[in-house]
Amino acid sequence: MSKLLLGTNNKGKAAEIRDLLAQLHIELLTPGMLDLALDVIEDGSTYQENAGLKARAFAQASGLVTLADDSGLEVEILDGAPGLRSARYVPAAGATDADRRAYLLENLQGSPRPWKARFHAAVAVAVPAGQVFFAEGNCPGEIIPEERGTNGFGYDPIFFLPALERTMAELSMDEKSRLSHRARAVRAAVPILEKVLDLG
Ligand code: IMP
Repeated sequence: MSKLLLGTNNKGKAAEIRDLLAQLHIELLTPGMLDLALDVIEDGSTYQENAGLKARAFAQASGLVTLADDSGLEVEILDGAPGLRSARYVPAAGATDADRRAYLLENLQGSPRPWKARFHAAVAVAVPAGQVFFAEGNCPGEIIPEERGTNGFGYDPIFFLPALERTMAELSMDEKSRLSHRARAVRAAVPILEKVLDLG
């Protein structure tokens, strides 16, 4: 069976990607399963560049085709912040997802609502020989001032989907897998995976 390494140390993301690729007959591995500890410096200037840096580093270290993503939350009234810095929005060492949500809400205090926002994801698929292929996806919504729901991770409890009248953290994994930015990007990457893994 073909093997695919998920080039992420984020358990929430790995679980989502695993769910999204369940229909492909491939063995999905995580860095932990290979005792592979890589801390890739994400210093690219776009989501694609950062996804490519992670995918390439893990593919080279493992010798396996690797899928990595880079994603972020972009809030319109904050000129797209936290954007590429979503995971590092609070500079203090040891800051948690809850700290980042609180900091975002602090920065939005006094701005008129709705606080329109979108999640964006870029997916990179790297082969050990060096080639990298890309796909992208978006999910529009808005930030709300109170947390709702306990599923998901990151900014999910304050990311509201007006059409569903729920936050991302109030969706089941199945529902998130239908409409999230990462779901859209990973689905767009399936034809790439079929080709590089020769899934016929
Ligand atoms: P990176 O892609 O690992 O660089 O980090 C992206 C950051 O964006 C995460 O740490 C979260 O803070 C945020 N983020 C990305 N995707 C999601 C999502 O699906 N839900 C909530 N937060 C997300």
